[in-house]
Amino acid sequence: MIRFLDLNAQYRSIKDEIDSAIADVIARSAFIGGDHLAAFEAEFAAYQQAEHCIGVANGTDAIEILLEALNLPSGSEVIVPANSFIASSEAVTRSGHTVVFADVDPVTLRLSADDVRRRVTPRTAAILAVHLHGCPAPMEALGRPAREHGLKLIEDAAQGHGAEIGGRRVGALADGGTFSFYPGKNLGAYGDGGAITTNDAELARRCRMIANHGRLAKYDHQFEGRNSRLDNLQAAILRAKLRHLDDWIDHRNRLARHYLASLEGVGDMILPVPPENARHAWHLFVVRTRQRDALAAYLADRGIQTGIHYPIALPRLTAYAHLGQAAEDMVAAKSADTILSLPIGEHLTANDVDVVTSAVRAFFSA
Ligand SMILES: *Cc1c(COP(=O)(O)O)cnc(C)c1O
Repeated sequence: MIRFLDLNAQYRSIKDEIDSAIADVIARSAFIGGDHLAAFEAEFAAYQQAEHCIGVANGTDAIEILLEALNLPSGSEVIVPANSFIASSEAVTRSGHTVVFADVDPVTLRLSADDVRRRVTPRTAAILAVHLHGCPAPMEALGRPAREHGLKLIEDAAQGHGAEIGGRRVGALADGGTFSFYPGKNLGAYGDGGAITTNDAELARRCRMIANHGRLAKYDHQFEGRNSRLDNLQAAILRAKLRHLDDWIDHRNRLARHYLASLEGVGDMILPVPPENARHAWHLFVVRTRQRDALAAYLADRGIQTGIHYPIALPRLTAYAHLGQAAEDMVAAKSADTILSLPIGEHLTANDVDVVTSAVRAFFSA
């Protein structure tokens, strides 16, 4: 059996560290806003090379809170890639703005700066880049339309912990970034969790207040915020895991190189293209083939789990029918029928990848 994700194997590999982190929080009964949270915020900020980090309840809240803290004019348009998880666009609508989907580059499946440029209107206020699959978005190219039109540029890095572009980690490359610690992410909690990163002290202060009922000090509420906290138990677990994250991402990179070398020229497959001058975090290893469903079934029969991220492009979801972008001829929409995520992660060995690639080759030569 080759599992797509094996959180239990990961736990077993660092059991003592996790168990003592959990025991420490319980022994001190400091569940909300304790030492581990403050320490994790500092350690994760350093890890992502950001000046500030604010722990919040989940990655969706993180985007929503960051958007609210940006104080965009109400009813602004925010440009979002058409091939993300719904949280990216949902957060835009939830913060009172209008989603405008932009297409992705046909080779890299990353947000296309050219298409973003075409979508800019007088009401556009921000661009939300997504480091999808752990592949850093082209931040330099996206920064150009942002600067020309005075737009905010933020990063949904829910899949991009540890990813780098141009020698810098994602999350604080422009106005601010957001992370998810959903259990299956490259850095996952034992429940929900999220964070906001930025180099802007004032923006960080507003995010922290919004996430904590509009206050910084107890009972001194400056405005109405909300309750969105990363709890101390999750923070303690995340601290323990953060110490291993670079090794895990390096391991994912080794497996990805192994996949790329073994699958070159097999069938009609299109392999992922890691950008130059970047460190890909390889949250997902996504190939494309016209025989996607047959290949997934063939692999499943051989005990190899795969996934599809995501089977329906955002503009084609019922939730976005009212935007009228469903019929647009987009790379993101077409690729949704051909993408397949092969298993990758710290729970797998090069041998496991050989098992997968042999099965893929057998499928195409049958
Ligand atoms: C997981 C994910 C989110 C949402 O994070 P949650 O912690 O589940 O709320 C947002 N954007 C992307 C791209 C994601 O993969």
